[in-house]
Amino acid sequence: MPEKLIFEISKKGKKGYSLPPLDIPERDGLIPAHFLRNKDLGLLEVSEPEVIRHFINLSSMNHHVDKGFYPLGSCTMKYNPKVNEEIASWFCFTHIHPFQDEETVQGALRLMDELGRDLCEIGGMDRVTLQPAAGAHGELTGLLVMRAYHKLRGNPRRKVIITDSAHGTNPASIHLAGYEGVEIKSNPQGLVDLDALRGVMDEDVAAFMITNPNTLGLFETQILEVARVVHDAGALLYMDGANLNALMGIVRPGDMGFDVVHFNLHKTFSTPHGGGGPGSGPVGVKEHLAEFLPVPLIKQRTLEPRSKPARPGISEEMNRSPASRYYLDYELPNSIGRMHSFFGNFGVLVKAYVYIKMLGGKGLKRVAENALINANYVMEKLKSCYHLPYPGPCMHEFVLSAVKQKEMGVKALDVAKRLLDFDVHAPTVYFPLIVPEALMIEPTETEGKESLDHFIQAMEQIAGEAERRPEVVHNAPHTTPMKRLDEVRAARWLNVSYLE
Ligand SMILES: *Cc1c(COP(=O)(O)O)cnc(C)c1O
Repeated sequence: MPEKLIFEISKKGKKGYSLPPLDIPERDGLIPAHFLRNKDLGLLEVSEPEVIRHFINLSSMNHHVDKGFYPLGSCTMKYNPKVNEEIASWFCFTHIHPFQDEETVQGALRLMDELGRDLCEIGGMDRVTLQPAAGAHGELTGLLVMRAYHKLRGNPRRKVIITDSAHGTNPASIHLAGYEGVEIKSNPQGLVDLDALRGVMDEDVAAFMITNPNTLGLFETQILEVARVVHDAGALLYMDGANLNALMGIVRPGDMGFDVVHFNLHKTFSTPHGGGGPGSGPVGVKEHLAEFLPVPLIKQRTLEPRSKPARPGISEEMNRSPASRYYLDYELPNSIGRMHSFFGNFGVLVKAYVYIKMLGGKGLKRVAENALINANYVMEKLKSCYHLPYPGPCMHEFVLSAVKQKEMGVKALDVAKRLLDFDVHAPTVYFPLIVPEALMIEPTETEGKESLDHFIQAMEQIAGEAERRPEVVHNAPHTTPMKRLDEVRAARWLNVSYLE
């Protein structure tokens, strides 16, 4: 039975708390009468167990990564170590204020500076801004940086090239940055078609924006040649770094010829996401673009050696450390300006910092290696029952097509819904657009063989059902609190208020 609304549980007179009687005299009239409410506020009245059970029940009605496998391709929905949350919730991080004097938040500035350096190392870049709040926001930042670069050289140019497998945020960001998006077709292997790229490159192209591995889960093997073609035309190469989970510690965007890359901290660097954030999409650039980054940049200034004796109450490390101070540098005349208030989403930065420091370089490389082996294992097992349009080996994800099942009346959407009956979140469906009936599967490195095998077995069973009992798949899910939703109605009926 679906959980009742809390409004329906509420009963007049119920309380979720009890306080001792007042032991001081009560005083009226502290607030002038005309400020007082003259009607009851109409708050809910429920007991403590009722409110706890209500929200616990709601939390378990939905699928989430702490509950089960979540192979949502292109999203890197990996399990997030709880220690990240624990440390990000420490008083020293949650109770500082962005208006505090630089001197009093040296630790927070150092954390952000070190995170920026680590991201530069991982991405092969020279400078990073931590301001953007998401991948798409990072794309916009990167595009504005590239625009400022071209503008300073006399012509901002008009066009940005993308491939037909590009994530939907890419054309949207291009448009927002005032550019015209030009799409080129992928070649039959699912990679950048070099001839098509050469065909569109001209003096009016500001940049080529691609993700590597691309959204088909394939590594762009000709990336060095791609970089040459782009740079020969005076354009820049942008990497949508959402798929960095496949590359970390193995190969660096900067070494592949990219000038700009954004990082999705909420994907690769382990922050829970979905449901609207918060996220973080830092942007790394090569030296020639650093002067255009958003202000302020965090920098380090070396001070005169300390003359005073060691101060008591200060850690020995601080007393001994060379006298240097972090500060915020606003003196960037060519900066594109601010992209976010203060420092971006600081809590997400703390989690990424902890994650990177805990794993270290070797650990991050193992993350990528395990993401690759998990995806290839599942792909090999499933390619006999579902069509695999671009044969592997794949990187951290792969795309199947339910075209065989569609002939029997079972669509990709039906397969996705049926998976919910096996306690598995649906994969991404109908993306990338160039694959009909696409099922985009990304297991991530955090899954063990048991959960991969459970998923494989569920997918095999569904393929069998599509042949013999298609109605079972067609009417799925059968075991979830809500059955199939009317998706068209959800888009048309926008007023969801309870009183309606
Ligand atoms: C997720 C994703 C994005 C957008 O990132 P958000 O953080 O969701 O804005 C862009 N490109 C690719 C390939 C992605 O997977």
